[in-house]
Amino acid sequence: MTFRLANVAGRAALVRDEHYYDLEQISAAAVGPDPMQALAEPERLHALSARLVDADATGSLAKADLGAPVPAPRNCYGIGLNYGKHVAEADMELPEVPMVFTKFPSCIVGPNADVRLRSDGCDYEGELVAVIGTGGSDIAEADAWDHVIGLTVGQDISDRPAQFMAKPPQFALGKSFDTFGPMGPVLVSTDSFDDPTDLALSTLVNGEVRQDDRTSSLIFGVATLVSFLSRITTLRTGDVIFTGTPDGVGVADGRFLVDGDVVTTSIEGIGTMNNRCVRVSDFG
Ligand code: ZN
Repeated sequence: MTFRLANVAGRAALVRDEHYYDLEQISAAAVGPDPMQALAEPERLHALSARLVDADATGSLAKADLGAPVPAPRNCYGIGLNYGKHVAEADMELPEVPMVFTKFPSCIVGPNADVRLRSDGCDYEGELVAVIGTGGSDIAEADAWDHVIGLTVGQDISDRPAQFMAKPPQFALGKSFDTFGPMGPVLVSTDSFDDPTDLALSTLVNGEVRQDDRTSSLIFGVATLVSFLSRITTLRTGDVIFTGTPDGVGVADGRFLVDGDVVTTSIEGIGTMNNRCVRVSDFG
């Protein structure tokens, strides 16, 4: 049985069709309300989801105050240059190993949160996000999907001036400003997908398509990334991996985000995020 997991006003909830079901209530308090704790209970999530058809919904998903489905990961990894056409538009060479950086977990916000821009050089990067369920180290690539509890949508918002103000570049800083990690709208269990390695991914700005590709175009796929990272750091439940962005980012043609822009990010089988941009005081 598959499941869809949301964070409604800080409380874990299961989702069926257009409704959500508070996890603590639906489980008769067998599982607490903490969205991070819920990730440690995949068997319960599967079993409870099978019973939602007979349960009373807590509320409408459309009206819910959604937070990030994984609001406080211990580690948040980002992968650069992981789609061939994006590597080409960045005028870089194809990587031979994953190019890894960190997004500080404090940048993570919900799927409808405002993004606070602190320069005129901020950019969007729509990305598939893989969420670790059962942790581990030295995970074989063949076993890696067993360690992924589910997938969600992410925006790896990037302040290009901050990213490139030092040499070598500081990816972590440029991608970790407060609000630079929208995630959601829900976490979808890996077994929900016919093929979790081939999902349509798009980013629109004010309704105009800027990015449109499939996750099958990833140079290093989810299984490779999980295995690679697990040979360096022991992966833990709730760790997240922003897997990289397709071509079409703003820096390629100088079309950066401005005050009032709405960034719409969608992945097939997961859902859509809408994030409004708000220009605030300059960085530095
Ligand atoms: Zn990225």
